[in-house]
Parts: sequence; C-alpha cells; structure tokens
Amino acid sequence: MEKKEREKRCHVLVLTYPLQGHINPLLQFAKRLVSKGVKVTIAATHFTVRSICAQGVEVETISDGFDEGGFMQAPSAEAYLESFRTVGSRTLGELVLKLQERGSPVSCLVYDSFLPWALNVARESGIYAASFFTQSASVCSIYWHAHRGLMALPVPTEAMPVSIPGLPSLESSELPSFLASPESYPTYLSVIFDQLTDLDKNDWVFSNTFEELEGKVTKAMTGLWPVTMIGPMVPSAYLDKRIKGDTGYGASLWKQNSEEYMKWLERRAPSSVLYISFGSLAKVTAEQMEEVAWGLGESGQPFLWVVKELEHEKLPDGFMKSIQEIGLIVNWCDQLEVLAHQAVGCFLTHYGWNSTLEGLSLGVPMVGVPQWSDQPTNAKFVEDVWGVGVRAKCDDKGIVRREELKRCIKEVMERERGKVIKGNAIKWKELAKEAISEGGSSDKKIDEFVGRLLNVKG
Ligand code: UDP
Repeated sequence: MEKKEREKRCHVLVLTYPLQGHINPLLQFAKRLVSKGVKVTIAATHFTVRSICAQGVEVETISDGFDEGGFMQAPSAEAYLESFRTVGSRTLGELVLKLQERGSPVSCLVYDSFLPWALNVARESGIYAASFFTQSASVCSIYWHAHRGLMALPVPTEAMPVSIPGLPSLESSELPSFLASPESYPTYLSVIFDQLTDLDKNDWVFSNTFEELEGKVTKAMTGLWPVTMIGPMVPSAYLDKRIKGDTGYGASLWKQNSEEYMKWLERRAPSSVLYISFGSLAKVTAEQMEEVAWGLGESGQPFLWVVKELEHEKLPDGFMKSIQEIGLIVNWCDQLEVLAHQAVGCFLTHYGWNSTLEGLSLGVPMVGVPQWSDQPTNAKFVEDVWGVGVRAKCDDKGIVRREELKRCIKEVMERERGKVIKGNAIKWKELAKEAISEGGSSDKKIDEFVGRLLNVKG
C-alpha cells in the first residue's frame, strides 16, 4: 500500500502525561509507528509542547488547565489531575474533531494509562482506544490484584510474603510504595486503580516491556488482563548500531550541556565511570543525598552525577570543590548518550522503569537506591530475576548509608559477582535488541496493531 494511502487510513493520536518518564516511552512508540508508515500526532500540554520534537511525528496542543507552568502551577496533585480530566477531556475531544475537519481523521487514540478519562473521549469520537502502561507488566499485575481485592491493603509488614501467579514472592518492602503504605499516597493510589477499572473496554492495552523479559507474568494473567508487550521503548540506534537516526527520544524538559560531559567521559578509561541519576522527579531527601555524596567521594571511582538545579542545596558543604579531580555534576544529560558511552561501567539509579529498561537494554550493570512508587519492585526484579544489578540496603530510617553504597559499587564494578552481572547484562541487551528488530516479539505486535488499523476500511 502506498505511504500516502497508509497515512490516510491509519492516523494514531498519542496522548502523553506531561512527565519526562511518561513522554519518553509514548514518543518512542509514536516514532516506531511512523517507521511503519503510520501517521502519528502527539497531543501534549502547553507546558511541554515546546520540548517535543521528533522526526515524522506531528505535535498538537491540548490544555491541562495550567498552561503557564503545568503541574508545578497547580495547588496540589488532586487539583492538577482533576483539572486535566475536565479541561483535558474537552480539549482532546476538540482536537480529534479539528483533525477530522482537516481531512486527517484519527483512527485510534493511544493514551497514557495515567489519563483513563481519555477512553471516554475515544468512545465518544467513535475511534479505537489503547491504554499504554509506562510501568512494568509485573508491577501492573500487582496493582491489578490489589484493585480486584486479592491482596490485603495496607500490606502488613510482618505478614508472609505476597504471592502472585507468575511473580517471585514479594516482601512488603519489595512492593510498590503506593500499596505498602497506601495511607501516604491516597491520590496516586486512586489514579492507579482508576486506570484498571475500565481496562477491558480498551481495544488494546500496551505495556512497555517485552516477551522475553516478562512473558511469565503476562502468561499468568492470560484471560484476566489483555496486555500486548511492545517494548522496550528505547531508541533503536542504541540497541542496533546499524540503525541510523533514532538516537534520542525527541523530548527533553530540561537543557543539557552534552559537550561538557561527553568530553569528560572521553578522558576516562573503559568501564571505569559510575553514572548516577535518580530520575526526573527529585524525590531524594537531603540526608540521602549527603550519604550518596560521601559514598561517591570515598569510593575513589570517577563519577558523573545528575543533580537537578533545585537539588544542589541538598549537597553537603564543600562537596563540589572536593570532587573536582574525580567527579562531574551536571543538571541534566541525555541519559542514553551517557549509558551508551564505553567509559560507563555502572549505573547508580532509583530504578524508575525507564531507567531500568534503559540500563538493561544497553547492557549496563546497576546499583539501586529505590525511593518510592514502583521502584522497590523493579529493584527486586533487577537483582533476583534478571540478575543485572543489586539493591543497596537501607537502615531503619530508610536511608542507604555510604558504607553500603561503597560495598555495592565495589561488588558490581570489581568483584566476581560483578562479572556475572555484566554477563547477564550483555545477554539482556541482545534479547532487547531482538525484541524490537524486524520480526522480533515486540515488532510483530506493533505490526499486528498497524495491520488491524489498516484493515478497518479496506
Ligand atoms: N533522563 C534523562 N536525563 C537525565 C535523567 C533522566 O534523559 O539526566 C531520562 C531517562 O533517560 C528516563 C527518564 O528521564 O527516560 C526518567 O524516567 P524514569 O522512569 O527512569 O524515572 P522518573 O523520572 O519517572 O522517576
């Protein structure tokens, strides 16, 4: 079928939640669809729209009701979500109409599962709907069991480990924090549950994972949860050097100085550098930052650490000066560019799902200091199931101390266990590449999705 004809028949509108860790995988999915000859438009909020620029993907604006500053302008998380639901529903519906009037009708709305109201917009517009989960399939399965009342909440700390089909048994400290202590996160827990309520009414439910990585849990959920695995949503050029062009997600909410850190990395020996980032949401306490800082300083390992501008005040006095020889602190970086650099030997991470998938897909061994949300569960899988990293243990106050960090860094970068971890990391890198390559498990699922959309009128 001619490209023009394909694009006319198959126009996908992709709705993102305006956080870096949500925009990246949805935008990457948009690019994959474009590479299959599909027309794709991203619907982004006023606050994020200027940061998005991906080849072949059109970008349109909708409103979350906070056009100047996005969620930072909102008085609370509840107020933001409610505003996005009401204003977002209206403006998204208007966008679907506008595209139709322009002669480019939308055939399917793919929306971030954090925005479940988008399903109604799709239904009212008479188009297909697909919910896109940005967390692991294992974490979604845990939430699904909690939502269906198959797990007691809050999970008692003293109780037996939680047992869920297809998953290893999980201690309370290994569960998503929204379930381990639901009283602390009522808003987020209700968002999580809302996205599961009408799951069955979607035409597709996509998960940013792949068959080889999480096939066991999705098999155990057969008939309960109709998930399609289409990941990892990591730009292809990092997984397969023969692919040119796809070297970034195409969105960055913060600016980076690539030249500075790439030059710094160039001067380091292969696999000698520790790269540290705790993601885009800055959830690390000042006490934890201080322990990380001194742990790094004392480890003797060269390090590149992303500390967002607002977090600089959490660094101990005199730290910046004391590390000039050995470390570099940047406000933001292109994380994939850094992880793919041969000088990087270990990734100290919070185990956000995108960072976890990126480390795994690029074959970089990891040390984790999980903070909240799904991060403790991701840590469990990284260490005990996939064997590509370790979780640093915290004390009674929930802080990982500098000695423990140094121990973990040594273990991953120097000791025998590190060699096993590196071997596993290389294996997973290969499997991730296969999944997204032509004919691979995830690639086939995307082809099936596109095929179904193309067949609608033909
Ligand atoms: N990231 C980046 N530069 C940085 C830090 C993070 O590009 O300096 C990207 C990273 O590649 C990932 C996303 O931001 O795709 C963070 O998502 P994740 O799920 O790991 O964590 P979150 O920020 O949602 O906690």
